[in-house]
Amino acid sequence: MPDLKNYSSFQQKYMQVLKFGGTSVANAENINKVVAIVELAVQKDKTVVVVSALGGITDTLISAATAAADGNEQYKDILLQIEQRHLELVKALIPVTQQSSVLSMVKKQCNEIEDICNGIFLLRELSARTKDRMVSYGELLSSQIIAARFKTGNAESTWKDARELIVTNAEYGNAPVIFTATNNKIELYFETAKQQLFIIPGFIAASVEGITTTLGRGGSDYTAAIIAAALKAETLEIWTDVSGMMTADPRLVATAKVIPRISYQEAMELSHFGAKVIYPPTIQPVMNRSIPVWVKNTFAPEDYGTVIENAAVKNGNSIRGISSINKIALVSLEGSGMVGIPGFSKRLFEALANASINVILITQGSSEHSICVGIDDVHSTRAKDAIDTTFAYEIETGKVEPLVVETQLSIIALVGDNMKSHPGTSGKMFGALGRNGVNVRAIAQGSSERNISAVIATADVKKAINILHEEFFETTYKQVNLFITGVGNVGSKLIAQLQQQQNYLQHHLRLQVRVIGIANSKKMLFNDDGINLSKWKELLQNGEPMNLQSFVTTIQQKNLRNSVFVDITANDAVAMIYDQLLQRSISVVACNKVACSSPYEYYKSLKDLAREHNCVFLFETNVGAGLPVIGTLNDLLRSGDKINKIEAVLSGTLNFVFNHYNGTTKFADVVKQAQDEGYTEPDPRLDLSGTDVMRKIMILARETGAQLEMEQISNETFMPASCMKGSVADFYTAMAKEEDHFKKLYDAAASAGKKLKFVASYAPSGIANGAQVAGVGLQHIDPQSDFYHLYGKDNVVLFYTERYPEQPLVVKGAGAGAEVTASGVFADIIRAAKM
Ligand code: ADP
Ligand code: ASP
Ligand code: MG
Repeated sequence: MPDLKNYSSFQQKYMQVLKFGGTSVANAENINKVVAIVELAVQKDKTVVVVSALGGITDTLISAATAAADGNEQYKDILLQIEQRHLELVKALIPVTQQSSVLSMVKKQCNEIEDICNGIFLLRELSARTKDRMVSYGELLSSQIIAARFKTGNAESTWKDARELIVTNAEYGNAPVIFTATNNKIELYFETAKQQLFIIPGFIAASVEGITTTLGRGGSDYTAAIIAAALKAETLEIWTDVSGMMTADPRLVATAKVIPRISYQEAMELSHFGAKVIYPPTIQPVMNRSIPVWVKNTFAPEDYGTVIENAAVKNGNSIRGISSINKIALVSLEGSGMVGIPGFSKRLFEALANASINVILITQGSSEHSICVGIDDVHSTRAKDAIDTTFAYEIETGKVEPLVVETQLSIIALVGDNMKSHPGTSGKMFGALGRNGVNVRAIAQGSSERNISAVIATADVKKAINILHEEFFETTYKQVNLFITGVGNVGSKLIAQLQQQQNYLQHHLRLQVRVIGIANSKKMLFNDDGINLSKWKELLQNGEPMNLQSFVTTIQQKNLRNSVFVDITANDAVAMIYDQLLQRSISVVACNKVACSSPYEYYKSLKDLAREHNCVFLFETNVGAGLPVIGTLNDLLRSGDKINKIEAVLSGTLNFVFNHYNGTTKFADVVKQAQDEGYTEPDPRLDLSGTDVMRKIMILARETGAQLEMEQISNETFMPASCMKGSVADFYTAMAKEEDHFKKLYDAAASAGKKLKFVASYAPSGIANGAQVAGVGLQHIDPQSDFYHLYGKDNVVLFYTERYPEQPLVVKGAGAGAEVTASGVFADIIRAAKM
């Protein structure tokens, strides 16, 4: 907090401070943009320009010094690069006739840098003090070159060394400002200076003894704010490479938007929690003087930018922005000995303060059993030593556990002044994170209710920020990321439907559905921006070889929000990996029946996993293809209805076969026709044996809660045993030989005026023929039955329930075919996306 007690009544009229960051002054082309902006500003008011080092130079200076300290002679090459970059800049920026004095200034400064590095190299030692001296040359060089550039233009400028204006303590690397002395110096200098334009290096200052210090990385913003506050400037402008403070870091969220107006407090919270666009201490001095801060884009000066000001801004949204900080360690002090004893937290925080460790976030369980503190992870070893030493006695006597340190964590924060008047913000935040499997390690909410912050794994940050951005800011759409396995008949149709509906989904359901991964049995293909669906076939052909486990691992590693895995294979191995996905909160939509008809335990475990991890496991197309059979059953059950009996014709294949067979064409040929028209499983025996129908009635029974296994379902098969052996070709040959058998079946029904239908039944109290609760078999159907008028590949399901006791609820329609099955899968995907 700056000390403003001794601040005099001095006020410089119409002063403005403009700060230009590293990218803005990275090269001659950019600096010329800066010059144009400043020349315009100067026409209005007296102007102080604060500049950073050329982009990247501070890091390069540090790497040279570190190399020298490590005894690595490469530091000389690095210094040459630094010199070269500045000399080239001067040559590109300043007319030849005026270059020489600037070039010799650069040479002189670079010689000093070299002398310092030679010293570091000889001593193999780099102190914080020397490091500050090293990095100061970045701003010293840039500011003097820029001042020289102004001399060649329309505005006369004066260069002033910030070390003569800003006084700090001698805490190198991040020195606290002594405001009384600083304000006096700034005031005194500008009171007498008559010029219109001043160029000042940011970031650097001097201790009371006159030794060079720095204000912390990113500190040029702070320099500008200190000067603006001391001068009671009209405005402070932070010119950077984005068009304002944004709702989230644009490098993480592609759809981040500029925030036109924001309060000081909100800006302070956002920058404190990682919004790098403003260095956190910057706001305080200007806020104390109510000086508006503009964040503007050097590369798009016409853009409005952001104004940070006093007034609370209402925009109908409780959240102003989202930010994150990486490299966080969570240290937890736990133990029963802490309960009810005052002073534990005081000692903890004192230990951290004495070790100069900054506390970023604090939470304490109401049981008082533990205190959790978020700190910068570079300090974690120091924190452990300090705290374990402070509590050595309590640890020894078992009252407190040794400090637990967890790393590779990050903090994400939601910020907004209006949060307090909007209940439910945290519910929405944690609900959205939970649905996407983001595990929250600790939570903190400021009592001002201006921010809610959570500690999560660093690997989850990008996903989490995007989820929250979508939840709180996207009025446009929610992004859904699909991974599809199996792109044969049904899969291709699904992709075509997705492509055709993309616009509709975006406009009517606000869903942006993207296919990120596609695989068939041979190849797999990924594209984080969404696969181009108009040429997926050729892209997939050139994809990498398919490996199921690496397909799954890639989905997990991509860690995208709202991910849905879609299985359109009939493959056993694919069905066995759903658990790995559900465990990571990735929803599964299966057309594949294997998982639901595998032993009950696996089916149940998948349902439980989905519930536990807040995602869905959907398989509507397992029964009746695109018909809403499972959905209807679930609607009945959820509304409290009870199933008395389900009777159904569930095999499109068998229906097709018995509708077309009348004893004239051979039975085997009718089956072949069904296969050719795509109405059978790849091995038609799965259909003809009734196995497929058994699976379907079992899935329906299981959905009602019955713990049914395949062995418990009776099957009165009509297929002679001779047909069920060998290959698919053998099957056709054997079937042709058994034509008499099929003819007899047909004649027996036809002579009684009936039709043949393969019927499945389930009744919790037992089906007609005994103790069995479920069974399938060929039946003679008379013309009064609901089953009689079934044509083509129709399916029909009759639900007899407490509410539909006599006249059943009927679901009827085509129960096979690629187009309808794909639309059933599509509907499940939308259900998964909307949850
Ligand atoms: P300068 O060198 O101009 O000081 P910085 O790199 O320090 O610029 O800060 C600007 C950068 O901050 C932007 O390029 C952007 O990537 C990043 N950034 C992080 N969070 C935000 C945010 N909420 N709004 C705008 N920019 C942000
Ligand atoms: N040049 C310094 C840094 O890179 C200060 C700044 O750019 O604000 O941290
Ligand atoms: Mg910056």
